[in-house]
Amino acid sequence: MAVSYAVQDGVALVTFENPPVNGLNHATRSGIVEAVRRAQDDAQVVAIVLTGGGSVFSGGADITEFNTPAAIAEPNLHTVIAAVESSTKPVVAAVNKLAMGGGLELALGAHYRVATPDAQVALPEVKIGLLPGAGGTQRLPRAIGLGIALKMIVGGEPVAASKLAGGQLFDEIVEGDFIAGAVAFARQAAARGALPRVREREIAAGDAHAVFAQAREQIAQAAKHFPAPGKCIESVEHGQQHGFDAGLVRERECFAELLESPESRALRHAFFGERAASKIPDVPSNTPARPIREVGVIGAGTMGGGITMNFINAGLPVVLVETKQDALDRGLATIRKNYERNVKSGKLTAEQLESRMALIRSSLSFDDLKSADLIIEAVFEELSVKKQVFEKIDAIAKAGAILASNTSTLDVDKIAAFTKRPEDVVGMHFFSPANVMKLLEVVRGEKTAKDVLATVMVLAKKIRKTAVVSGVCDGFIGNRMVEQYVRQALEMLEEGGLPEQIDKAIEQFGFAMGPFRMSDLAGNDIGWAIRKRRSIENPSLVYSKIADRLCEDGRFGQKTGGGWYDYQAGDRTAHPSKRVDDMIVAYSAETGKARRTLADAEIVERLVFALVNEGAKILEEGIASKASDIDMVYLTGYGFPLFRGGPMLYADMVGLGHVKQAMERYAAATGDTFWSKPATLLTELAAQGRRFNG
Ligand code: NAD
Repeated sequence: MAVSYAVQDGVALVTFENPPVNGLNHATRSGIVEAVRRAQDDAQVVAIVLTGGGSVFSGGADITEFNTPAAIAEPNLHTVIAAVESSTKPVVAAVNKLAMGGGLELALGAHYRVATPDAQVALPEVKIGLLPGAGGTQRLPRAIGLGIALKMIVGGEPVAASKLAGGQLFDEIVEGDFIAGAVAFARQAAARGALPRVREREIAAGDAHAVFAQAREQIAQAAKHFPAPGKCIESVEHGQQHGFDAGLVRERECFAELLESPESRALRHAFFGERAASKIPDVPSNTPARPIREVGVIGAGTMGGGITMNFINAGLPVVLVETKQDALDRGLATIRKNYERNVKSGKLTAEQLESRMALIRSSLSFDDLKSADLIIEAVFEELSVKKQVFEKIDAIAKAGAILASNTSTLDVDKIAAFTKRPEDVVGMHFFSPANVMKLLEVVRGEKTAKDVLATVMVLAKKIRKTAVVSGVCDGFIGNRMVEQYVRQALEMLEEGGLPEQIDKAIEQFGFAMGPFRMSDLAGNDIGWAIRKRRSIENPSLVYSKIADRLCEDGRFGQKTGGGWYDYQAGDRTAHPSKRVDDMIVAYSAETGKARRTLADAEIVERLVFALVNEGAKILEEGIASKASDIDMVYLTGYGFPLFRGGPMLYADMVGLGHVKQAMERYAAATGDTFWSKPATLLTELAAQGRRFNG
């Protein structure tokens, strides 16, 4: 039973229940309409209390119904709200803890609202590129005034019910027994006899013109790529100028437009992709996680420090182990400095800083890792060093401890084989800066146990990371794909492009930073070292030497005052470099390539489709289990524009047939075998007119 009906003291108590957050699915909506109707005919009933069973009122639409016919089947939410609003007996929405989206819209349709003292309300639809489509843009301004309503609708952030008490949104904040308080309030409401409706109120607007102008100014930056905030304002403004019914019509029109927009599709994809990433096809969701009460981190360098911060931020104690005291001191000082910056900006108090630092036990002895439930190594990227470290921790770690490597390029199966417990070994590939970046690639070795994966996925949530599982391959999901992207960028330099043009073209597409500016920021020497190592491992490896030339010239990037661009001391602004541009032109001549003008559209396609094709291979090989996982890696770790939804969704939106044709064109124009050998999966899906994402 989604909705229960009981009569208490002459008040019909209608409780809807659809765990975990009482999403308003079809059964719940039907049940509410039915219960409200029943109460009209129930002679002993003088008023109705509508509330959510379990711990919340309602989180809004049921996301499991999204994109299914049930989502819009009658009674839809409009019909439910109309049934509530037109009740001949007063309806009191009793908001326990949370009313979001459709849940708040439903409450706004009631004649009265009461809330628990801790209740929060929000209209967060804008975050998935939509607007509240069940009257929220019309009723909320009438309930709480234009300025604050616009802020809530356009920003999507939750607001404490207590801030909206005193007749604005909530008629009463009920202390003590909530249901008893709500029922008592409903009896008083019945005695009053009135049936106040939010839709009949005037909007308290003040200088409406100024409020709308200010709201538009505030969204100007985001509005370049996201239409939803502007549509929210348009819908509210229409209702303010032309009345409730006309506003409702405009709200529906705007909602329908947004629903079809690529930006909303991208945002919804990211929203669902995040949830889907935590589900691993062959690991049942009820797999018990191992308890993690203490974490060991080995190496207090760039990554080890950031990794440590993640855990102490979440209240988990960390044992931080180094080989030398000075390295340990440097690592701890960097962590402290990071927190001090947060204290300065007001994000953290000085006490919080100290209590976090107190969670770190630093040591020069591996013996101190004995009690850790999870040990993550972030030592030098050399297999021999990893071997030494894993043999040591295998001898020390307690039974059942998870042994993780933060390696970005080494084979996790080889690392696991250094231990007698490969089933406990997993890759936890954090991204730099590890305390900031959302992405965590969880690298599943051949023998990694399912409960180890389940544990790491749970832990990732605790430390607020987006965890995506990758199989073992060179570069895992993200770096393997980015290698093809960078390769295309370098090829295009040889063919006629210059760093500034290539960067600008892809930044115009929406990337935060083009490949050359990015490389200058990270340090060109990192890739150089990897290329050198690979050339030794595989002497027949063929690659463009243009980036090596740059490094041979000492141009490692921002840190050396020059890379692909020139930099002035203390300034990160990239200035095109004549020296580098001349070097590029000379290199083209040397390699016998006639330079030509590259169109920006070609630059964008070659960079993005390089990602797409490698992504298709990654899917085909089962390195990623679904296309949305690849998109999550790119959205959270590589600055792929959110409004485009990730490389695989972008390819789906432009059409895989289009991608395939473009690849054929580039194969003919460049002779590059990368383009003439498209991934089998891409070829097959394109031929069938299908998509990567379902
Ligand atoms: P780093 O050089 O900044 O730090 C490595 C630290 O490990 C040093 O402080 C060193 O003293 C310590 N160390 C070395 N051998 C040790 C041992 N046997 N026992 C204890 N401590 C030891 O390196 P980093 O950039 O932090 O990289 C660490 C790991 O993280 C590497 O595997 C790297 O591939 C990976 N990674 C780095 C990045 C990045 O952007 N820097 C990103 C993802 C992953």
